[in-house]
Amino acid sequence: MNKYFEFPFESKKPIVIAGSCSAETEEQVLETAKQISAQTDISALRAGIWKPRTRPNSFEGVGVKGLTWLKAAGKEIGKPVITEVANGKHVEEALKAEIDMLWIGARTTVNPFFVQEIAEALEGINIPVFIKNPVNPDLNLWIGAIERVHDAGINNIVAIHRGFSSFDQSVYRNQPMWEIPIALKANFPQLPIICDPSHIAGSRDLIQEVCQQALNLDYDGLMVETHLDPNNAWSDKEQQLTPLALGEMLKSLKPRQTQSGDIKFQNKLEELRLKIDELDNSLLKKLADRMALVAEIGEYKKENNVAIFQLERWKEILETRSKWASILNLDIESMHKLLSEIHSYSIKVQTEIMDEKAENPS
Ligand code: PEP
Ligand code: MN
Repeated sequence: MNKYFEFPFESKKPIVIAGSCSAETEEQVLETAKQISAQTDISALRAGIWKPRTRPNSFEGVGVKGLTWLKAAGKEIGKPVITEVANGKHVEEALKAEIDMLWIGARTTVNPFFVQEIAEALEGINIPVFIKNPVNPDLNLWIGAIERVHDAGINNIVAIHRGFSSFDQSVYRNQPMWEIPIALKANFPQLPIICDPSHIAGSRDLIQEVCQQALNLDYDGLMVETHLDPNNAWSDKEQQLTPLALGEMLKSLKPRQTQSGDIKFQNKLEELRLKIDELDNSLLKKLADRMALVAEIGEYKKENNVAIFQLERWKEILETRSKWASILNLDIESMHKLLSEIHSYSIKVQTEIMDEKAENPS
């Protein structure tokens, strides 16, 4: 999967894309652009023209006329403009209006038919395409969408991480699940990736910390919903920042560099990593010892016709290990995940033993 990607911006990372969730009126788009531009040097101006909404009877976007407003506002501040496309017709209209860049929304990435239709509408056209993660935490769907657009001849692809929806209650509107974009990066090391903190956070007060985490993870940029009057925005009012708040938030972020040229830093890092290597090696040895015992128990359960899964034992494991973890100052939630993985692995080992045919069937 060694694909070639180009970053569509020359400016230093992290690049910033800002603008309102939706284009509402010509004045609102223009005024938002001007106020943002007075605060910070963005790389592109955003606005949604066609809005995919979860429930009917919400504002669904102003449609085609908004494209001209957006393009004009971009010209006014001398910046490229970007909007969301969800089908082939949208692509056609956006290209006609000379929109500079396109993004595919989370609700479209989930649908290979629409992504394919968009990819075909883009065949032979040189335009940067940003691809948001699908709403569900499915890495392959995200990869598939990137491949479809790439196969249409587009190298200027940027992934946008906007979080994943979940039935569970959380402080976030969409769970960041940072491990998924990290896995994406492992698949496509050259693929630029930016973070959309607005749709992850869902509320203004969490935007800064999500942005900082994206920078900590070496993201290439941010796309932040910014509106001149967020409380009266026609969509996503809780999560939009004012241009002034955007400027202040960006100033408060601590930039991180991909690497440090400082030899002292590198030596120290190398020394600590060697220690980690040793520890990982002993962790794996311990795990192998544990699995040998698990296999022994598996044989024993088989001989005695006892079920593999024992709820009481699992509860006991979770309870005791949670106590041990907290004494060791380990994060309980992460430890639960790790123990669940180890437990599934153990069940797999014992299942294989139970399923083994008797060696000397009589
Ligand atoms: C948006 O960017 O306004 C939007 C609709 O985003 P998402 O596709 O991430 O929900
Ligand atoms: Mn939005």
